[in-house]
Amino acid sequence: MKPSTVQFESGVVIHGGVGTIAEHRMTPVLRDAYDAALRESLAAGHQAFADGGSAVDAVVAAVRIMEDSPLFNAGRGSNYDERGVVTMDASLMRGTDREAGAVAGVTGIRNPVELAHLVMERSEHLFLIGEGAEAFAASQGVDREDASYFDTERRQQELARARQRSEGRSRPNVLGDDVDAGEGKSGTVGAVALDPRGGLAAATSTGGMANKTWGRVGDTPIIGAGTYASERCAVSCTGWGEYFIRNAIAYDVHARMAHGNRALSEAVEEVVWDELAGRIPRSGGLVAVDTQGNAELCFNTPGMYRGWIDQDGRSEVAIYGAASR
Ligand code: ASP
Repeated sequence: MKPSTVQFESGVVIHGGVGTIAEHRMTPVLRDAYDAALRESLAAGHQAFADGGSAVDAVVAAVRIMEDSPLFNAGRGSNYDERGVVTMDASLMRGTDREAGAVAGVTGIRNPVELAHLVMERSEHLFLIGEGAEAFAASQGVDREDASYFDTERRQQELARARQRSEGRSRPNVLGDDVDAGEGKSGTVGAVALDPRGGLAAATSTGGMANKTWGRVGDTPIIGAGTYASERCAVSCTGWGEYFIRNAIAYDVHARMAHGNRALSEAVEEVVWDELAGRIPRSGGLVAVDTQGNAELCFNTPGMYRGWIDQDGRSEVAIYGAASR
């Protein structure tokens, strides 16, 4: 079995983004902090099953923990846009009936994944943006935080560096020139789950790219690009969002299985290496699971914060390695 492949009866698989800190700069203290946060997220997903919850409950619980951590680029640790404002995107999809919810460009929301869940459950729409999404959040009694909650020193430093790098450029900074330097421009979080009843779900949440143009939306809240779930598989992506949108990456995994008769591992490998790396090296990765409990954690970057937990609570977390084809 490839190191990126796991098998379970039911379980949760998570990522904390491909924008990993360069391995030589990772300190033992920081590594322990990442490991602990990933394990906490996995435990929350596992607990959702123990409480009788569905795959949707598990992915929301797992993503919520990472949104609450300042370590990842989602929720509390979100990147700033070019104005120095945190705007966040999130989405969620249930495989059994292909119901989905998404939000983009929201500010002040503690857990955008929960808002996406509410859009799915309580609105007649699928995707709400900006002030409208925030008004919907208020109508649902969703927790808000003031700007200081999101004001992490690390993201301030990244914004300053991103601004320096982009001086003189006509385009906003993108992921590719940044991964090796480990500046963490990308640390989107996501989860996929197969519940004990065979239900699948995927969720993804992000602050987007550091110093992004005001109004920019990446793949994370776009169903079929950053997130997808069907009766076959559930997929959550991280990486250079514009490429994930152009190539409908999350949906492509499903499509190769549905129409090309591929196994999950084949579909994921083709998408991450041919569709993504074939066009732009070091462009990202994804986690995916199918109804048989095959799970893939695949990336074409030097690392991806990631982990999985199975029905018995067996789990594993990792950051680097397994990036070769
Ligand atoms: N995909 C995200 C975006 O483009 C970034 C990431 O994965 O970290 O907004």
